[in-house]
Amino acid sequence: MKIEDMHQVVKCTVLGSGTSSGVPFIGCTCLVCTSTNPKNNRLRSSCLFQVDGKNIVVDTSPDLRQQALRTPFKIIDAVLYTHVHADHVHGIDELRIFNVHKKGAIPVYGTKETIDHLIAKFPYVFLPHQDSTYFIPHVETHVVTGLFDCEGVKVQMIPCHHGKNYITMNYRIGNIAWLTDTNGIPEESKKLLKGLKYLFLDGLRITPHNTHFNLQEAIKVAQEIGAEKTYLIHLTHDYDHDEFNKTLPAGIELAYDGLTVEA
Ligand SMILES: [Zn+2]
Ligand SMILES: [Zn+2]
Ligand SMILES: [Zn+2]
Repeated sequence: MKIEDMHQVVKCTVLGSGTSSGVPFIGCTCLVCTSTNPKNNRLRSSCLFQVDGKNIVVDTSPDLRQQALRTPFKIIDAVLYTHVHADHVHGIDELRIFNVHKKGAIPVYGTKETIDHLIAKFPYVFLPHQDSTYFIPHVETHVVTGLFDCEGVKVQMIPCHHGKNYITMNYRIGNIAWLTDTNGIPEESKKLLKGLKYLFLDGLRITPHNTHFNLQEAIKVAQEIGAEKTYLIHLTHDYDHDEFNKTLPAGIELAYDGLTVEA
């Protein structure tokens, strides 16, 4: 069966559309950082997939607590990790509260390299779990690759370049793909992105960057992949949401925190 037909309805909510600093950037007085438009307020990169009654988050951003309160949600059935940069993993401690609600360990998925790096970065999380008070998070690791089963949900891993010699593992569920932190999509990965309804794609900023797509690169790649709609994510304060959206080609928009799509 094709990945696009595996689930009836897939819902995806943007928990964070911002770059590693978040927007506003601390201390910045630019028009975007001081804007009162909530669409210019960008928490760190993450999204929530809701499919077949499961809540699956991509990454544990440093803003996970705020994201869960704001959306809101209190259940995490699984975490899919893209890579171990701080803006994608440092909210791992917030999983404690989700342990309380789940009354058990949270399954976390990633490549062997990602899981090994998580263990090296946060050794206390991976100590044998002693009790049910959850003063430390309790996770259960799953090393995965390709197309895999995540708590009954079919997930396709999409490897992408993130600078030289570094790969992020991004994810597609049904007809929605979340591609954060990338400056290049290998041909093999592009084949896994056919027939998308919604593509979330790194479009960091206007000027070039050596590990992320800038605006022009993201537009080119979005048009090549040809999803019905592409939303740019991992955004800096370069973009005033409403002003910029008017300038983008048809089918491409800036994402914003709280945006929900269904496919
Ligand atoms: Zn990032
Ligand atoms: Zn600013
Ligand atoms: Zn990164």
